[in-house]
Amino acid sequence: MTEPKFDVVVVGAGPAGAAAALEAARAGCSVALVERGPFPGSKNVYGGVVYGRVLDELVPAWWEEMPVQRWVTRRSTMIMTETQALTVDFRSQDWGRPPYNGATAHRAELDAWLAGLAVTAGAVLIPSTVVTGLLRAPDGTVTGVRTDRPDGDLTASVVIACDGVNSFLAKEAGLWSGVPAPLVTLGVKETIALPRSTVEERFGLSGRDGLDIEILGCTRGIPGGGFLYTNLDSVSLGVVVDPHRLAAAGVRPEALLADLKAHPAVRPLVRGGEVVEYGAHTIPEAGYDGMPELAGDGILVAGDAAGMCLAAGLWLEGVNFALGAGMYAGRAAAAALAAGDTSATGLASYRRTLKDSFVLADHRKLRKAPGLVLSDRTQRQYPSLICEVVEGMFQVDNPRPKPGLGALVRRGLRRHGIRKRHLVADALTGWRSFG
Ligand SMILES: Cc1cc2nc3c(=O)[nH]c(=O)nc-3n(C[C@H](O)[C@H](O)[C@H](O)COP(=O)(O)OP(=O)(O)OC[C@H]3O[C@@H](n4cnc5c(N)ncnc54)[C@H](O)[C@@H]3O)c2cc1C
Repeated sequence: MTEPKFDVVVVGAGPAGAAAALEAARAGCSVALVERGPFPGSKNVYGGVVYGRVLDELVPAWWEEMPVQRWVTRRSTMIMTETQALTVDFRSQDWGRPPYNGATAHRAELDAWLAGLAVTAGAVLIPSTVVTGLLRAPDGTVTGVRTDRPDGDLTASVVIACDGVNSFLAKEAGLWSGVPAPLVTLGVKETIALPRSTVEERFGLSGRDGLDIEILGCTRGIPGGGFLYTNLDSVSLGVVVDPHRLAAAGVRPEALLADLKAHPAVRPLVRGGEVVEYGAHTIPEAGYDGMPELAGDGILVAGDAAGMCLAAGLWLEGVNFALGAGMYAGRAAAAALAAGDTSATGLASYRRTLKDSFVLADHRKLRKAPGLVLSDRTQRQYPSLICEVVEGMFQVDNPRPKPGLGALVRRGLRRHGIRKRHLVADALTGWRSFG
């Protein structure tokens, strides 16, 4: 048998792929990192926040070199109806100092930086190249990938599929058998340019401080949510929705974005801005119970390709999971190569490590959260109930005496047809998920 050209071929130079290539190259493997875009990040869309803790392990003092727009020092949750909005706003100046909590960053810059680290560690980046399928041995073992280049087959002892949501490589390798078809959510986003001083005045920021707002109740009852993140001289505004319910409602995603921009609580924040970028992308949302097998003979799968994203109202996190999973996949591939066994059994340390890490622990803990957050009650009834109760508390109706909180809640529950047993069941699910 001829020697494979590379120890490891990583498909996709997003966060998962860059982290996998970095760790495999650091361990001394020969690594090819194949990306269909002309440069890493050129094809990628996301909201804009990266939670940095996972980077501590990958890139010590990463904050000194990562291309950051702003450090997230304010995190808000906004619950809205068509005419009302309630915001819970948290600010911590500790998050504006090393080791930082989260940052906004542009994908083209972030992905290029991460892939550059892998190249510096010895990986070969092959851009503008589409992987079109897997190479297999007669027994089914994955032995490399086909690409759209003439004579472009790349043989390898291990392929790490980091080709993002709807990974056809994971499907072709049979890793999705036994789980339902992967579920996806649709995300659409605009980048709206504003002068830096305007961003800082409108959002109460100074220096490199930044704000991250997650929004509930902004999608006409279609399961989903919204977000607004601040960059240096722009904001990213987007919605994330169930595409099937969107189609059934006959609503276009850009109409939801237009609604959000026109909402009285958002309009003053984006007024006068110029839309400089529009993007749409799907997001995996199957969660822990809908993930594929993570290893096969000669193949591992990481990041969105394995459904490792959390898109449930209060959270929109995928980059940190992709980085963590890619890092562990790169290490597992190197360890299997060193042990001379790159079969599914030899690569099984990947799943074991992931299970003990935040990647699978968070997904396991929050496995019921998407169901709760995306339920009709949370999407439609609870935002109205909460806004109504708060309005009732703050409205002064003299000469009538102030209503008690209990009376306001009871009236709201009745008006919105929410039964106490639903409230208790949802509170219990919430407590189990988030408590
Ligand atoms: C609207 C929206 C907002 C989001 N907001 C956030 C957020 O604020 N914070 C956060 O943490 N997460 C966010 N996410 C999720 C996050 O973007 C993903 O979870 C993350 O990008 C996953 O990284 P990945 O490396 O697994 O996949 P990707 O980033 O999708 O990278 C896959 C790479 O593979 C390449 N590729 C695909 N197929 C091939 C092929 N056949 N051949 C060669 N190359 C290929 C692609 O070009 C791409 O570069 C958001 C997602 C969306 C859609």
